[in-house]
Amino acid sequence: MSTSPEEQGFENVKKLINDICRRMNISETCRLRLTGCERELTVRFPVKMDDGQVGVFSGYRVMHNDTRGPAKGGIRYHPDVNLDEVRALAALMTLKTAVVNVPYGGAKGAVVCNPKELSQAELERLTRRYAAEIAVLIGPNLDIPAPDVGTNPQVMAWIMDTYSTMRGYSPGVITGKPLEIGGSKGRFEATGRGCMISALLAAKHVGINAEGATVAVQGFGNVGATVAKLLAKEGCLITAASDSRGGVYNPNGLDVESLVAHKAETDSVVGFRNAEPVTNAELLELPCDILVPAALEHQIVEANAPSVKARIVAEGANGPTTPGADKILYANGVFVAPDVLANAGGVIVSYLEWVQNLQVFCWEEAQVNGYLQSMMTNAFAEVLEISVLEKVDMRTAAYITALRRLATAMTARGIFP
Ligand code: NAD
Repeated sequence: MSTSPEEQGFENVKKLINDICRRMNISETCRLRLTGCERELTVRFPVKMDDGQVGVFSGYRVMHNDTRGPAKGGIRYHPDVNLDEVRALAALMTLKTAVVNVPYGGAKGAVVCNPKELSQAELERLTRRYAAEIAVLIGPNLDIPAPDVGTNPQVMAWIMDTYSTMRGYSPGVITGKPLEIGGSKGRFEATGRGCMISALLAAKHVGINAEGATVAVQGFGNVGATVAKLLAKEGCLITAASDSRGGVYNPNGLDVESLVAHKAETDSVVGFRNAEPVTNAELLELPCDILVPAALEHQIVEANAPSVKARIVAEGANGPTTPGADKILYANGVFVAPDVLANAGGVIVSYLEWVQNLQVFCWEEAQVNGYLQSMMTNAFAEVLEISVLEKVDMRTAAYITALRRLATAMTARGIFP
C-alpha cells in the first residue's frame, strides 16, 4: 500500500505526540523527551551461511524512553525494516505501556533479513550474534525484548541463552520465551487475546452483537490467527483472512481451525477450500462488522480509508492506519480500537512473564488470562471515557492517557515540567 512520505514512520508518531502535548497542556519537557529516542544502536555483523559464505547483516535496538520502567519492545526480522520504522515502533511501545499502565518504557529492535530464506542453523547463528551485539543495551532492569514479526519463542530462547552465557542466568532479559525456560502460560496467544477483548468491548460499545458478527483479518500470523480463532469461539463469523501471499473470502464464514491447518501445511491461507481469492487490498474494503489489520504498518491510508466498510477496526498490527486515514475513518463513524490499546495484550502478558521470572514462580494460565482480561478492560474503559469527555477518537484518547501518565512520572522523578 503506498503512502506519502509524511504519512510514514516516526514523523507520524511525533506529530501525534506534539499535537496532543500542545492541546492538553502537557509539559514541554515531556514533549521534547518523547519526540526523540533516548538511545539508538545500529549494529552490522557477519554470519556464516550454510554454504560457507559469510553474510553481513544490519540490525538495530532503539530505546525510546524508560521513565516509567525498563524499556520494552519486540524484535522484528524483516527484509524491509529500517531505523526510522524501529524508532516509530519504539515510541509506540512507550505509549502502549503507559496506556495499559504496566511499569515499562518503550523500545524496539530489528534485523534486516528474510527469516523465511534462512535455515534454522543460519537463523540461530544470526540471532546469537545480534544478541551479543545488543547485549550492551538489554537486561532485565534495562531493556527487555520480545517477539515481533518474523521472530518467535525459539528466537527468544537463543537470545536468553546468549545473554545468560555472557552475564549469568537471566530469564528476565526477554519475554515470549518457551515455557520450559521461563515463558508464561498464555503468552503465545496474549496479543491476539487482548485484541479479541478490545474488539468485543468495541462491539458492545457500538451495539454489535458478537454472535454472528462478521470479521475480516489481514495477516494470519501469531496475532491474526489467534484473533480469528478466539473471535470464532465467541460466535463471530470469520469471513476473510490473508497473509503476505494473498487472501481468502467466504461471506458465510471460513472454518478457522481448518484454515489454521491449511496454513500450517502450505505456509499460506491461499488456496483454502470453499473460499474465493481476495487480495490484501480488497480484504480491507470487504463488507464486515469488524476489520482486524494484523500484518504490517500503513495498510489503511487516505486512498482506501473511504472504502473501509467495517464498523470497527481493531488494530492487531502496529501502525496499520495512517493519520490521514484515521481522520477519514473517524468522520465516517468507524470505531477504531488503536494499536497502543488493542494489541497491548502481548506486552501485558510479557510483563506478567517478567514478574514470574523475577519471582522465580509460575502462574496458572487462568490467572494470567484473568489479569489480561481485567487490565485490558480497565484500559479500554479509561480510554473510552476520555474519548467521550474530550470528544476525540480512541487513538487520540489513548495518547492523552499515555502522555498524562508519562508527564506525571517525569515530574515525580524530578525532571522539571
Ligand atoms: P507474524 O510474523 O506471526 O505474522 C505476520 C503475518 O502477516 C503473516 O501471516 C504474514 O504472512 C502476514 N503479512 C506480512 N506481510 C503482509 C502483507 N503485506 N499483507 C498481508 N499480510 C502480510 O507477526 P505477528 O507477531 O502476528 O505480528 C503482526 C503484527 O502485530 C505486527 O504489526 C506486529 O508489530 C504486531 N504485534 C505483534 C505482537 C506479538 O506479540 N506478536 C504484539 C503487538 C503487536
